[in-house]
Amino acid sequence: MSRLFGTSGVRGLWGERASPSLFLELGKALAVHLGNSGRVLVGRDTRTTGEALQAALVSGLLAGGCKVIQVGVVPTPVLAFCTKLLGADAGAIVTASHNPPQYNGVKFWSADGMAFTPEEERRIEDLVEKNPKGVEWSKVGETGEANILPVYSGEILSRFSLGRSFKVVVDCGNGAASLIAPHLLRELGCEVISLHSHPSGFPGRELEPLPSNLQHLEEGVKQWGADLGIAYDGDADRVVAVDEKGRTVEGDKLLALVAGQETKKGDTVVTTVDASRVIEDVVESRGGRVVRTKVGDVSVALACREHCASFGGEECGAWIFPKIHLAPDGILGSVVLLKILESGKSLSQLWEELPNYAIRREKVYCPENEKAERMERILQTAEKMGGEVSTVDGVRVSMPEGWILVRPSGTEPLIRITVEGKEEKWIRETMEKIVRILATK
Ligand code: MG
Repeated sequence: MSRLFGTSGVRGLWGERASPSLFLELGKALAVHLGNSGRVLVGRDTRTTGEALQAALVSGLLAGGCKVIQVGVVPTPVLAFCTKLLGADAGAIVTASHNPPQYNGVKFWSADGMAFTPEEERRIEDLVEKNPKGVEWSKVGETGEANILPVYSGEILSRFSLGRSFKVVVDCGNGAASLIAPHLLRELGCEVISLHSHPSGFPGRELEPLPSNLQHLEEGVKQWGADLGIAYDGDADRVVAVDEKGRTVEGDKLLALVAGQETKKGDTVVTTVDASRVIEDVVESRGGRVVRTKVGDVSVALACREHCASFGGEECGAWIFPKIHLAPDGILGSVVLLKILESGKSLSQLWEELPNYAIRREKVYCPENEKAERMERILQTAEKMGGEVSTVDGVRVSMPEGWILVRPSGTEPLIRITVEGKEEKWIRETMEKIVRILATK
């Protein structure tokens, strides 16, 4: 059987991987994984197909003997947080994150509020393949309902307050953030203007919060003279920011600002191998250190736990605040962005104060069966370059002039190359050299 789980849960097109029949099997498999008992929190994002897939998943869990608490439309981080807080044995969120509306998927959460590890996902896949029958009739589970949005908001409001009021434009992309983000920010004393905040399955913009999808937000921030613009992806585990001039802040720089906010002397911060070195500049200037891990939010969460990190984040806006919980949390991320603005400096000032690096990304075609040999060639070259070599994810070389990352794609016949440095000439020459080595037969 081909793998069901990708880098972030099961994901696919409606009727293909996102089908009620597969979700029924996934529900039964999760029930067996939990010992055919226990309580599972189940929620979904705003996609049109969410209810049908949730019903199938719930049916499988009940048939497998679990009790299910249905929580309706909630952001992924709210479900993860409440799985732990409410003492559930697992959580499941039906979502395809930032993918277009014809996609859907599911992501599982452990009792400790962390995403399933690759090992746990592998076990679910094995169980699906075994096609478990379910428990006898008298042991079939039952459902209940809970409104967990106020539980989550209450926890955040008990931990955070703002020293002043801000004017904020919030773009929920008609996703799961619609039901909580504008209200929570108002509770924190902000003047909130919401965009695309009706929780329909028909987004007013594409769900991935890329600058090209955020013109409404950028224009809105300028037009209304707001201090900050905020946008989420479909399930609100990611957040991006627009400064008061209406410009979407570069992901690497926003990551560095948030990492700086969460760093005290002696702290460890986790990020992935592909993030800019600007995060090291900021974190080290505050007496912290940066640990780099594999790309993907589960790798970041695992590293946060291992290193007792104060913060973990990716350039795409998936940020983990381990003092609160171990799931990437866009809602919490927006609160932290406002805490940063309490300093009195505008977001554009804070952004422009950061060091500038040039970064270039390229990809080279490479058939699957040649990836290992070409990566070995890159590793040999890297070891001769005299820098610090890491093989945490692909091959990464760190040198005084900058750094190079070469990673094979997990899903396409490609090898991706990233080069970052201070000097354009060094970046260009280094990129040419790496492409030449990879392209040579
Ligand atoms: Mg997401």
